[in-house]
Amino acid sequence: MPYIRRHTPREGRRERELADIKRRKRRKVYASARWRRMSAAYLLRHPLCEQCMQRGLTVPAVDVHHRVSFTAFDGMQMLAVAYNPDNLVALCKECHTKIHLHAKEKDAV
Ligand SMILES: [Zn+2]
Ligand SMILES: [Zn+2]
Repeated sequence: MPYIRRHTPREGRRERELADIKRRKRRKVYASARWRRMSAAYLLRHPLCEQCMQRGLTVPAVDVHHRVSFTAFDGMQMLAVAYNPDNLVALCKECHTKIHLHAKEKDAV
């Protein structure tokens, strides 16, 4: 029986293209004045790491993380997810790094 390789060079190229699209989406959101304003305002309202707080620790938050990655969406839907304050969480560097290490989707934001 012939063995069919699951990862053909063609699929490799497609994966790279998808990674490129996600990179462009992240750049579009994170370089926007709207995001800078919004994340700064979010940190003012949530000055402490929300994950450390759940463990009873008081640690200043430095990053704003999306609970649901907007890179999985397109167009208006992507912007709605990216700029939804309910989708954000304020984190310290350590918690943020950990979330991304454990995330299956390595390119989560
Ligand atoms: Zn933390
Ligand atoms: Zn993140």
